Amino acid sequence: MPTYRYEAEDPERSCPNCRGGFEAMHPIAGPRVEKCPECGAPVRRVICAPALGRSKSDLDYRARRAGFTKLRRIGKGEYEKQY
Ligand SMILES: [Zn+2]
Repeated sequence: MPTYRYEAEDPERSCPNCRGGFEAMHPIAGPRVEKCPECGAPVRRVICAPALGRSKSDLDYRARRAGFTKLRRIGKGEYEKQY
């Protein structure tokens, strides 16, 4: 079953679980997660980083090799580069 990443649509209405994003597993054809299971805030799926059974470190490695810079949101409108 693929793992999908979700994050809060509105950082103002988020809890520690969804503010930085969380991962949920459900079938490809299954219903998508619409709310944070912790606080019920609306969440959106982060499409650019499907784990699909690969480890996070492997994804990071592949992203680096491909020349992508990972950005991690650290606050409202602020992003941190991760290498
Ligand atoms: Zn939440």
